[in-house]
Amino acid sequence: MNLSKRARLLQSLTREEWQRDDWHWQMSHRLTSLQDLRVLWPEWRPSPEQEAVAQRYPFAVTPYYLSLMQNPSALDPIGRMGIPQASELQDAPVLFRDPLAEETHSPVPGLVHRYPDRVVLLLNGLCPVYCRHCTRKRFVGIDVAAASRQQIEQWVEYLRATPAVKDVILSGGDPLTLSDARLEEVLSAVSAVESVEIVRIGTRIPVLMPMRVTTKLCEMLSKHHPVWVVTHFNHPAEVTPIATRACQRLLQAGCPVNNQAVLLRGVNDHPDILEDLLRHLMRIRVRPYYLHQCDLIQGIEHLRTPISRGIEIMEALRGRLGGLAIPQYVVDLPQGGGKVPILPNYILSMSPTQTILRNFEGRIVAYPEPTYIPDSYERPRRPRGGLSDQLANLNPEPLIPK
Ligand code: SF4
Repeated sequence: MNLSKRARLLQSLTREEWQRDDWHWQMSHRLTSLQDLRVLWPEWRPSPEQEAVAQRYPFAVTPYYLSLMQNPSALDPIGRMGIPQASELQDAPVLFRDPLAEETHSPVPGLVHRYPDRVVLLLNGLCPVYCRHCTRKRFVGIDVAAASRQQIEQWVEYLRATPAVKDVILSGGDPLTLSDARLEEVLSAVSAVESVEIVRIGTRIPVLMPMRVTTKLCEMLSKHHPVWVVTHFNHPAEVTPIATRACQRLLQAGCPVNNQAVLLRGVNDHPDILEDLLRHLMRIRVRPYYLHQCDLIQGIEHLRTPISRGIEIMEALRGRLGGLAIPQYVVDLPQGGGKVPILPNYILSMSPTQTILRNFEGRIVAYPEPTYIPDSYERPRRPRGGLSDQLANLNPEPLIPK
């Protein structure tokens, strides 16, 4: 077996030792060849199709994340997120290279301006692990270079010229793969723009390489508040003691930590798994923020779930967990259409007098509307009642006039 030097070293270490608390070591010992996975699973062989996938969409995994996998098959939820699968080559025609049309919404290279008050800065294309479901598969792991000083200056110029932008999201790749010094340069430059009110860091580091969250990094972040962190746990097995420590450090440094999970077939598309994940997150004080429906990205068809499944899961979670633990389920529309929240339908009928609602147990309850309509609403009262009025005999006229 032709193993790389790194793989041979890992072979000589225990799984616990793969979690070494040194992010530079983790980065430099990432496995980037599928053959190297035979370190862990000597019986396993990547198929030629998997090798072809890894040529198209790069493969890399930290020893730490590898230690969370039981096996590299598509049946293991962690393996499914980290190991190329042959199905990544089967693209349905509805999938896009750049589903959110980020490139068309980039007035300056690397700056995505889709909503009036927010921009995303793409700091690099480097990540500790290349997640198979990544929205930016088009460039992560391929164009890994960090933004140049000149590019950062262009971004700052754009921000100064666009005071409507209040919220700057640092993303990539993973911005926390940059050195503290480089990251601080970006943070200082961006926060010096008077109209910028908050900075968010979008990072999967607490999940893929949590040892990167050092006390030194947190001290630096705490000098640039308000800094929010948005991370990306998808499965309860990812909430390890060291991942917990990373989140605690960020919280202690004053960075609120929110989680954006992605609904992935075979990973977390079951209410029990998501409930478990959300409970874990609440215990470590990470707020469940979004549950994303998979974007329409080329190479991820096998990971997509129907929206109807997402609605079923949200419906099941509603009775089991308190509202604080329930993320908002959203679809990010293709071609830059923006995020749309999706809820199970709890409103059965509305009329001027009452709204009929269904609760999580399926009980149907009427909510009587106020007897007056405040003038300020300027809402024309509908002349005919809705279904609820019909049922309550309040307005027996037919809904559809003869
Ligand atoms: S860490 Fe984020 S940007 Fe990097 S591959 Fe994973 S999902 Fe994509």
